[in-house]
Amino acid sequence: MKTFCFKLYKAKRNQKLHKQINAAGLTYNYCIALHKRYYRLYHKSLNVYQLQKHLTKLKKIKRFSYLNEIGSQAVQDITQRIDRAYKLFFDNLKRKVRTAPPSFKKIKKYKSFTLKQTGYKLCDNATMLFFKQNINLVAKANKTLSKKKKGSNNRQRAKLALARLHKKINNQRKEFHWKTAQRIVGEYSLICIEDLNVKAIQRRFGKKISDLGFAEFVNKLKYIAERTGSKVIEINRFYPSSQLCSACGCRNKETKNLNIREWICPSCGVVHQRDKNAAINILREGLRIACSMKTCGRDIDHSGENS
Ligand SMILES: [Zn+2]
Repeated sequence: MKTFCFKLYKAKRNQKLHKQINAAGLTYNYCIALHKRYYRLYHKSLNVYQLQKHLTKLKKIKRFSYLNEIGSQAVQDITQRIDRAYKLFFDNLKRKVRTAPPSFKKIKKYKSFTLKQTGYKLCDNATMLFFKQNINLVAKANKTLSKKKKGSNNRQRAKLALARLHKKINNQRKEFHWKTAQRIVGEYSLICIEDLNVKAIQRRFGKKISDLGFAEFVNKLKYIAERTGSKVIEINRFYPSSQLCSACGCRNKETKNLNIREWICPSCGVVHQRDKNAAINILREGLRIACSMKTCGRDIDHSGENS
């Protein structure tokens, strides 16, 4: 199954969609209310099929006409989602994990619903721009925001503009990731990467790394590779890729310091560029893993298309 994620903007042409999302929110809250009432009365949870049947009947009543605004499958999706949420909640109760049961959502905050039925057209007008260009724009938007009086409409507007800009940059980054991943997978059938402990790196270096969204990129890389028969091999994060000399295999622990960009192997005297040396080691280790998988009789190609 392919998954799409889109942001819907408040525009006139989206009015129908907004009405639908609103209806989905109302439906969601109504279902929650029913669940709660049912539990109060019978001390057991409401069956999802019973609920669906009940909602179908309600569609004919004028007060519940919003149920007709959204497709029947979207209504089903809402009931199923709530059902899953309740099951999870009761499971958690059994395991003595404290979580809250699903509860009402503010309609204003209700922002998603599922389109299972076909007949929706996706508009794609994404453009590829450069990141640098945005840095100035963000600084400018921040400055504009800081000048506005607190609580004013203008401030609200400036806030929205800034949020929109961040979203835009985020989208551009995503697109850049997809394109880069596609290019790499298109060129190479074996891709070796270090399984970086992103959370630990974030703790040490802060926002800089999360800006790069490396984990997201790797996920996209794997996603495409899986579908095209390329292989992504992740090297264990404890493999000392930057400490080993790619020429003689000697380990130099002093290179742990990230500031050392270049070093000379104390054993064989070869001059190493930190990143390039590490890359050679990662590739070598990846090939070793790939070969050991092959000799184990496991097929490296997961696609199953090219035998
Ligand atoms: Zn060496």
